[in-house]
Amino acid sequence: MSVSVFDIFRVGIGPSSSHTVGPMRAAVRFSKELIAKGLDKDTHRIWVDLMGSLGATGIGHATDTAFQLGLMGILPANVDLDAAPGILEGIKKNHKLTLASGKTIDFDPSRDIILSPEKIAIYHTNAMHIIAQDADGKVLLSRRYYSVGGGFIVESDPNDFDKVSEAKETVHTKPQPYPVTTAADLIGWCEKTGLSIPEIVRANERVWWETDEKINEQLDYLWSVMKDCVARGLKHEGIMPGPLKVKRRAKQMYERLDFENRSLNDPLAVLDWVNAFAFAANEENACGGRVVTAPTNGAAGVIPAVLHYYMKFIDSADIQGVRDFLLTAGQIGILYKENASISGAEVGCQGEVGVACSMAAGGLAQVLGATPQQVENAAEIGMEHNLGMTCDPVAGQVQIPCIERNAVAAVKAVNAARLALLGDGHHYVSLDQVILTMLKTGLDMQMQYKETSRGGLAVTVVEC
Ligand code: SF4
Repeated sequence: MSVSVFDIFRVGIGPSSSHTVGPMRAAVRFSKELIAKGLDKDTHRIWVDLMGSLGATGIGHATDTAFQLGLMGILPANVDLDAAPGILEGIKKNHKLTLASGKTIDFDPSRDIILSPEKIAIYHTNAMHIIAQDADGKVLLSRRYYSVGGGFIVESDPNDFDKVSEAKETVHTKPQPYPVTTAADLIGWCEKTGLSIPEIVRANERVWWETDEKINEQLDYLWSVMKDCVARGLKHEGIMPGPLKVKRRAKQMYERLDFENRSLNDPLAVLDWVNAFAFAANEENACGGRVVTAPTNGAAGVIPAVLHYYMKFIDSADIQGVRDFLLTAGQIGILYKENASISGAEVGCQGEVGVACSMAAGGLAQVLGATPQQVENAAEIGMEHNLGMTCDPVAGQVQIPCIERNAVAAVKAVNAARLALLGDGHHYVSLDQVILTMLKTGLDMQMQYKETSRGGLAVTVVEC
């Protein structure tokens, strides 16, 4: 496979990987091409058509603001979250935007960001078409990008926007020692070599990242971003952005747990801790904070919550365990990305929170001492009981049901790992079978349940 664990886990900003991180990366790519071709000098105006799901829920997911920052050459991993609101306010007021080359163009967000939810592209519903024009209206550059989930973007053929020349964001081409296409391949390599799942994954990543030090550095960085995200979420309070006026709850949950020292006198308090960690990460995401896509922003609370559970409640937990957890979970995420989808707009929430649950279950089982077969079993359980889950964010905000759903999935992942550890690794449904089932279920799902805000809770819950 050509996807790395570090493509699945990316540092991004909230609230959505497909609607915020992907469009921001697409805008950066467009802007870079414009500058590289010297076309920025004659550019007078740039506008974008946000189609399908991007048009339907783009405003609630901050696609508009991510697009503007992306045009300026700012990537999700290095956006200054304190400065961004001021920059965006300036663009809105002055109708001017400065590209990374220093060239300033006319840009009026209300005129130049067009929402077209009714336009459904053949390749993928998350399509965005960007056009640069000179002062006479002549088109200088016209590109269409598809944001296919998890922050991944795919560029269309410039001569036929419904076709893509390369369906994957392939950046890694060197062959790996243990090629893995399916979960069966992964288990097969473990059986053949006697290596554990994270050892197999690490050996494959080493081809691309050269040394274990570099791999560890990246894994530790991801963990530090997750820790910061949870820490901020446990500190902040107030109302989240958007029309729903949802109150942040993580701080209150945490203070109650900490004050009452509930882990000592309530045998189920551990569930409350997992819930608080997940709420913290997802509330940060909903507020546009810095998160790790795991595998997406909407599902960015599950893995940090389960990792915090591991560090707080498992005596043998250490940084090496965190690394093994992330390598195992990342590989499971790659299997879903390559064989099915991690896009709520394509397969519903089973492809986001369901996949996160599966990844976390496998990662936790690994660091609790599971065999490769038990890890595969844990990951399979994590998805089996999320099959069919729709994506229906109320008011297009990644808040309801998303935040609570991450907490429920994190607890479910802990349970899935424990269930797998109680068995001997033999099970009836394989991880490959459940991945295929998830894909088929997602393809059969009616469009209104796939991140359109036109079905499910999004229509039965009335906005106040
Ligand atoms: S319902 Fe699930 S897939 Fe949809 S926005 Fe929320 S977290 Fe993402």
